[in-house]
Amino acid sequence: MRKRKLILIMIAAMALSGCGKSASVITTNSEDNSSTQEVFAMDTYMTVTAYGDDSDAAVEEAVEEINRIDKMLSTGNPNSEIAKLDLVGEITLSQEAAGLVARALEIGEDVDGAFNIAIYPVVDLWGFYNDNYHVPTDSELEEAMALTNVADISFNQENGDISFANQEMAIDLGGIAKGYTSDRIMEIFEEHDCSGIVSLGGNIQAIGEKSDGSKWKIAIQDPNDTSSYLGYLETDPVAVVTSGGYERYFEEDGVTYHHIIDPATGYPADNGVISASIISDDGTLADALSTSVFVMGLSDATTYWRNHKDDFDMILYTDDGNLYVTSGIADIFESDLDVTIIKINDKTGDTNSKSPDS
Ligand code: AMP
Ligand code: MG
Repeated sequence: MRKRKLILIMIAAMALSGCGKSASVITTNSEDNSSTQEVFAMDTYMTVTAYGDDSDAAVEEAVEEINRIDKMLSTGNPNSEIAKLDLVGEITLSQEAAGLVARALEIGEDVDGAFNIAIYPVVDLWGFYNDNYHVPTDSELEEAMALTNVADISFNQENGDISFANQEMAIDLGGIAKGYTSDRIMEIFEEHDCSGIVSLGGNIQAIGEKSDGSKWKIAIQDPNDTSSYLGYLETDPVAVVTSGGYERYFEEDGVTYHHIIDPATGYPADNGVISASIISDDGTLADALSTSVFVMGLSDATTYWRNHKDDFDMILYTDDGNLYVTSGIADIFESDLDVTIIKINDKTGDTNSKSPDS
């Protein structure tokens, strides 16, 4: 049964990407001077589109970059630097991987631990790495939680040396790697004088001017119905990264458990936020913060945003049907859904509603 399911998934992946696992063909469109390629990598479907005279080469290089970063960082690839570190408990990282680990640790500290790359043993315990889903017992959870203290990682970014106090510890850059990848693709597009847009799972990032001079229109998925949208932004080029429990989850005894873990409890974050989007020029930051803000919940996320409003904006969808949108993007966000849109302003106690169609 399981094997059959696997084969079906593989066929679906192949159909989507055109041929093998990650080597689909580039589709060119001479009308708008664009090239597009679909890829399955980092455990998700990706679409890469560039506009410009050199768009074919830009897309080809972007896809090579996706595969290179996947091979370097993915815990699912036993030869990656991170997988080797997790296996042995110490390694010397490349400067590039060390740079991303440093960034992840720095953001983790800034969000008071809501983002924690050492959460791996707990995510693993819940079964999210091997589809062996189950609700852990208290003692199992206690044991795994003892392995998630970032203070037990000794790390020297300068020479890349990293080691764990306990060999059972492990890290995972899954909450930040796609954002880093889309940042890198934007650099590649720029080198080829192309504008473009990528969608790497929940991560969307655009660069440059659209050829017809219009703004980029970036849609955010509806967590309750993934074939429809919460709303969309008409925007200058930015990264828009969304985290939601609907991306990966299982059900046990009628309760749904998803893959974004609150490092304070070891349980899936459960604070009423069902989808969190971050809008920022910095794709890496946006990715780490989408996961963080999902864990923090509305109140802490609002406080955090007020202290960092020059770096990002956010959209939080809560289980009571409200859409909270920070003031920096409130005017460029539209929703067709029957929801109340509440604007978060930069001063305390100052939120105001606007109707969905205003
Ligand atoms: P994202 O889709 O970017 O929100 O990242 C979710 C992935 O990051 C999960 O599949 C886990 O591998 C990992 N993860 C889960 N919870 C956390 C957390 N609190 N901090 C950092 N990474 C996490
Ligand atoms: Mg993330």
